[in-house]
Formats: sequence, structure tokens, C-alpha cells
Amino acid sequence: MNIGNDTGDGVGEGGGDEVGIGDGTRAVRAGLPEPVKNEPTLPGPVFAAHFHLPGEPTGPYTYGRDENPTWTHLERAIAELEAPGEPRGAETVVFASGMAAISAVLLSHAKAGDVVVLPDDGYQALPLLREQLEAYGVEVRTAPTAGDAQLALLDGARLLWLETPSNPGLDVCDVRRLADAAHAAGALVAVDNTLATPLGQRPLELGADFSVASGTKGLTGHGDLLLGYVTCRDAELAARVRRWRKIVGAIPGPMEAWLAHRSLATLQLRAARQSANALALAEALAARPEVSGLRHPGLPGDPAHQTASAQMRSYGCVVSFTLPDRAHAERFLAALRLVDDATSFGGVRSTAERRGRWGGDAVAEGFIRFSAGAEDTPDLVADVLRGLDEAARG
Ligand SMILES: *Cc1c(COP(=O)(O)O)cnc(C)c1O
Repeated sequence: MNIGNDTGDGVGEGGGDEVGIGDGTRAVRAGLPEPVKNEPTLPGPVFAAHFHLPGEPTGPYTYGRDENPTWTHLERAIAELEAPGEPRGAETVVFASGMAAISAVLLSHAKAGDVVVLPDDGYQALPLLREQLEAYGVEVRTAPTAGDAQLALLDGARLLWLETPSNPGLDVCDVRRLADAAHAAGALVAVDNTLATPLGQRPLELGADFSVASGTKGLTGHGDLLLGYVTCRDAELAARVRRWRKIVGAIPGPMEAWLAHRSLATLQLRAARQSANALALAEALAARPEVSGLRHPGLPGDPAHQTASAQMRSYGCVVSFTLPDRAHAERFLAALRLVDDATSFGGVRSTAERRGRWGGDAVAEGFIRFSAGAEDTPDLVADVLRGLDEAARG
């Protein structure tokens, strides 16, 4: 489990674990059905609003808002990656987007009078969800991810929401410690696992009840689809989330689900290269005088490094840092040739953005969120250093 090195080279290669096969092997085979003669290895997307259903309406496939065989394969694949010890024990429910998955957990489990604890530095749409929860009579408490500050708010809570590493600040909290305290207080625990991906971190093994993520980012990694999922071990919790999907209808299209499953085969390769690129970039940025507030959990000196090394299996592809001012940051972004100025992260093509342009996060005007892609490391580092030089000239 422990990454146990500071080089980043071993990231994602930590082959053996309790199940006896490596992450790369697990990723290429995840969710594949039993082979059938003359059928493809991964069956193509099933486009169906309804299925033939004579007589009594029994499952598994009746109506397209409830179930689809393409989702079933993907759900099995994600469950195998999130909880490899028990491929049939954990259950995944896929959604149209990460926010659909997050909203499904929070809105299907919190009711008027309940207390929900959120991070105050989480994904930028969480405050919108907070307003909605409050409108429904839920009491919402917030604290920062760093320092396990949410521990102080658990009294009487129904649900604790964690996001680690947090986006975009890259703070990390101790999932096991928070989950134990939350369970002692009678609360359920959900972890937003978007940034780490299931190969980088397994929240259920760390004690969480739900691992929730946007599949839009590193999980699928090509920046061409939106997806979300919820994985849990408890069948009753999963049934509530599934029921919520049916009520709200926040379902992924079969094409998106199939593309996502296809992308999982390269998850280990992508994540290993992208993590290594992020660490190389962070090391190069550390030597630059105009860079402040540099954060990456893989940097030995990072405040999150110790906790991240104990609970994560790789450190992820995101690096954040601050340039002196807005104009400097804009010059840097404009000077990059191999890096697209775009939001989102986790894709095979590097992206970066001045996060303050959205207005939703508490970040400086010159704050850059950088997502390392799968380019060759020397090319990417050289482009970034050249971009910094150009930006510094004014
Ligand atoms: C992007 C993101 C989400 C939302 O996912 P969508 O697929 O865009 O709805 C949630 N949490 C985190 C940490 C994210 O980065």
C-alpha cells in the first residue's frame, strides 16, 4: 500500500498486493465479461431506451433509465479497481457526471434536520450543493481539508464528506483517522476520489463508506466525456444511490460508458506517466524564484507528503503554484506550446489554467493549476521552463 519512495518512479508499478496481480493487469482486464466465442472482448455499447420484455417485467434489463448492459460492465470494472479484494462485494453506480454522483450521495442520504460536514476547500460546485442542502433544511458545517480540521465538527453528524487531495489546493487529510472518528459519532463517510483515481487511492480500504468520483478527469483521461460514479460495499447504501439515479435520471449515455470502459485499459499507463511528469515538473518549479506556494503531494517537503505517502498509492498528476500576479500568469499560459489553457485535469494532454478566473476558489490572482499529461517528461519540463522564462521577460 505504501508508496515507500520519494522518486515517483515506482508509482503505479507496485505490482503485487493482496490479490496477487498488478495494477496494470487489473486495469486491462477490469470488468470484462466471460469470453464468448465470436463475441468481442469488450462488448460494444448497447443503445436501447427499452428492452424486449414480454410478460412479467423482471430484470436485469427492462428500461434504459434503470439499467443498461454497457453500464453493468463499467460498474463491475470500477468496483474491481476501487475494491480489488472483493470484486463482487463492492458495488458501483455510474452517473452522467461527477456532480450527479456527488449530489446522489448527499441528497439521497441527508434529510431536513440532519448535519452534513463538508470541506470548505473542495470542488468549486460544492458550495452550490451546500446552498441546496440548506434550502432543504440540512445543517451544513465546513472546515479545511488540511490538518484533519473536519474532526472538530462531527458531533451529531449524519454524513462526513472528504475530498483528498483537495482540488485545487492539494491538501490531504487522514482518511482512516477521520473515518474512525465519524463512525464513532454515528456518521457515514464519503471520499471524493477524483484526483487520485482508484489506482492512486482506495477510500473503502481506508474506512470510507462511499468512494465517489468524477470519471471526467483522470479515470477516463482523454477529455472527451463526462462521467461520475459511486462505489460502496454496503448493498443498502448502494440501493439508495441507485434509486436516486432512477428518480433524477442522471444517467450516462451508453457511448460515454463504453468509451470510459475502453479508457480504463490504459489507466495504469497514463497514471504512471502523468504522476511522474507532475513530480518532475514540481521539482523543476521548486528551483524557480518567481514561483511561490508550490504544492504537490509527491514533493518530500510538501505539507501533505507524509499523510499522502501513507494512504495513497501514487500522488496524482496535478501541481499547483502561484506566479507573482495575474498578468505574469497569463503570459506564462500564453507562452506554453505543449500545454492547453483549459480547465479540468487528468487528461493525456497537459492543461493549465489561472484558477482565479472562475471566482469560485479562494486562490491568488496568479494561482495556476497544472495538470501533467502523458508527454515525454523532458519535453514537458522544457516547455514549462521556457514558458516561465518568456513570462518573466514581461
Ligand atoms: C471535476 C470534479 C468534480 C465534478 O465532476 P464533473 O464530472 O465535472 O461533474 C467533482 N469533484 C472533483 C474533485 C472534481 O475535480
